[in-house]
Amino acid sequence: MVVQLRYNYRITPDSAQRTALAQAFGCARVVFNDGLRLRQQARAVGGKYVSDADLSKLVITRAKATEERAWLGEVSAVVLQQALADLNTAYRNFFASSTGKRKGRKVAPPRYRSRKDNRQAVRFTRNSRFKVLDNGCLRLPKIGDVPVRWSRTLPSEPSSVTVIRDAADRYFASFVVTTAEGEALPPVESELGIDLGLTHFAVLSDGTKVTAPKFLRRCARKLKRLQQELSRKQKGSANRKKAVVKVARAHARVADTRRDWQHKLSTNIIRENQAIYVEDLCVVGLGRTRLAKSVHDAGWASFAGMLEYKAIRYGRTFRRVDRFFPSTRMCSSCGRVNDKMALNVRAWDCPCGSAHDRDINAAKNILAAGRAESLNACGAQVRPAFVPAPRTEAGIRPDAARSTRSVEGISVLQERASTSEPATEVIAA
Ligand SMILES: [Zn+2]
Repeated sequence: MVVQLRYNYRITPDSAQRTALAQAFGCARVVFNDGLRLRQQARAVGGKYVSDADLSKLVITRAKATEERAWLGEVSAVVLQQALADLNTAYRNFFASSTGKRKGRKVAPPRYRSRKDNRQAVRFTRNSRFKVLDNGCLRLPKIGDVPVRWSRTLPSEPSSVTVIRDAADRYFASFVVTTAEGEALPPVESELGIDLGLTHFAVLSDGTKVTAPKFLRRCARKLKRLQQELSRKQKGSANRKKAVVKVARAHARVADTRRDWQHKLSTNIIRENQAIYVEDLCVVGLGRTRLAKSVHDAGWASFAGMLEYKAIRYGRTFRRVDRFFPSTRMCSSCGRVNDKMALNVRAWDCPCGSAHDRDINAAKNILAAGRAESLNACGAQVRPAFVPAPRTEAGIRPDAARSTRSVEGISVLQERASTSEPATEVIAA
């Protein structure tokens, strides 16, 4: 099994390199927008969908020969091609979503990129000849040798690198690396069911209740305060701009901290268990119910995503259990389905005589259901073709600074379909 993973590092371009990067961001944006405009215009007059190859000719090759787009020649051609590749992927996702081929949240049609977007990015593939040098710098065509803070080593030769500038004005290199095979961990006996608790981050079928650590809640409180300060600043003022950057920085810190913590937790769970089952909560659907706050706050989706790709990478089983299954009110000892319970009921007794903690009972049921489903699926070994992206790219969400709603000290991120980021998926082949 081969898995592609992202490795992100801070990079520190000097001022000339920052200027060159700004130019690359700008050119990529122009090509993307030109392509989008052409397709929209063709559609408006009832014309055919402009093919990928034609589009590339029109907005890159021919555009370079014109006076008003001649400057496209000053940046790496790969950067421009990759911007169009993003546009093509965004269109494909949109079409697949509107025809029902793609499951989950509806994907919006591609939208124009703006110089005001909080996240600016360009991608270099292998044929652009980017290179990690012996002196630790990253050589980028037409940019230069940019110093990298190597917080950990790259496991192998990267196939692409995305250079990102975030809202907090930080620069990152995000490498895609195909991991070596043979990383499977030695098999272990135990299996685990995990329930998303209402009062805990997660409840495990072995009786463990996991709470988000204090330092995380503390940084979330600080973020909330900064967001309130931001909302009081006048629109368009210099003070508002400063406050936006402050919020973005605090946001990045919360996201980084939470991700680190979730990485440690998910790695431990994968190491200690052969099979992991979680309730398939379909977070998008829940976002509209009263459970929304706890679900979004806890970052459950990204955690489940980590478990999933680590399970594939390390040879473990991961399965989501049908969310319509009454995991809370079914007795894990006798199987009896009891009456609905109010959310504030934390413990209950079944007529069979078993006393249950609400969440631990649910986790045990998830474990049992996951095992049963695994047995059914035996023979035809089912493995997901695509693993949802662990949201790790640069450690910050695209619109971090714009998110102003917050609940219980942890910000609720404004979800937006990121149609233009095809490469943020971990792909299992
Ligand atoms: Zn019972």
